[in-house]
Amino acid sequence: MINFNVGPSKVYPAIKDFLQESYDKGILGLPHRSQEFMDMVKKTIFLLKQKLQIPPQYTIVFASSATECWEMIAQSLVTSKSYHILNGAFGEKWYQYTHYLHRKSEKYLFEINESLDTERIQTFFTFAERRSGKAELEDKALICFTQNETSNGTQVPIEVIRKVQENFPKQLIAVDATSSMAGIEFAWRSADIWYASVQKCFGLPAGLALMILSEKAIARIHEIGEHKHYNSLLKTCEQMQKFQTTHTPNVLGIYLLMRVMETSENIKEIDKKTQARAVSWYRFFEKNPYFRPLIHNEKVRSSTVIALQGKPEQIGTIKEKAKQAGFRLGNGYDKWKENTFRIANFPAISETEIQQLQDFFLKIEL
Ligand SMILES: *Cc1c(COP(=O)(O)O)cnc(C)c1O
Repeated sequence: MINFNVGPSKVYPAIKDFLQESYDKGILGLPHRSQEFMDMVKKTIFLLKQKLQIPPQYTIVFASSATECWEMIAQSLVTSKSYHILNGAFGEKWYQYTHYLHRKSEKYLFEINESLDTERIQTFFTFAERRSGKAELEDKALICFTQNETSNGTQVPIEVIRKVQENFPKQLIAVDATSSMAGIEFAWRSADIWYASVQKCFGLPAGLALMILSEKAIARIHEIGEHKHYNSLLKTCEQMQKFQTTHTPNVLGIYLLMRVMETSENIKEIDKKTQARAVSWYRFFEKNPYFRPLIHNEKVRSSTVIALQGKPEQIGTIKEKAKQAGFRLGNGYDKWKENTFRIANFPAISETEIQQLQDFFLKIEL
């Protein structure tokens, strides 16, 4: 089965050997307070910074999932307000989890084909300011973006996030990059908190996530000083200074991440490939008689998750036929469950596999 699902997704074929190797080297029972473990974490962090071009001053910590990151951020980085700018199901869930803990968190919705611009965001915030009776956003407010909205195949261009940062230099910006990190290049300095789980663009099995924090985010974590949870960011960051974790982590996941990073290309090369493949996927479906890209606005189309729209009966049939032909497609999600399906454009998928799936779509009659 060739996996085009958008998560969990195709893992790099080398994972098979890395798994065997981890068993042979005794990684599976490696104590998480041992020197070997700390050396492995140190190397993993070094490789992530090198291959993904993360500024050396940023701190990288581990979590178990992006969902856990939502909660960690709400616990350790939000004091009372966060503003969630969103257009789909994952942004909504992040808002929800934060709202359970902070009743004053707010969300702003934009349309899936809308080019989000800084003026629009300024309008959102002006409403928020009026409602709170304050002239400007609280310095400690957290501004939240879902860079790649996996549910509908849209993305917020990094340029937009960078401009928001220019306009709101005091506030921290947090970015859910779960389905784009390690697939496209980021200007890391344009936000303070970035996170992703590894079962999407990293081409790894699920059960591990990364959070990447600026110096300003670290300072805020210390200022807030939240330490009531095992996964408090204060404790997590303290442990990470020794290349350790607060609890027994996914040691195998970290090992696999280290090995994949060791063998992977630089993000600049990966980004070029992802962008070129995305262009070719969109071009391909613009000519398809049954399915069209859900997103018409080219500027906000995701580079890593291609959402295709069609008639619900044909969506059902195509998924079934694809399965019989050996392809796993991604289901539609949430509001778009019935009338879309999704195709992952993740780096672990090979050129030949893309060709095979395109051939399948060219031959199919519905
Ligand atoms: C997949 C996904 C998540 C959830 O990831 P988990 O690892 O299952 O917690 C969150 N946000 C986005 C944008 C995603 O694509």
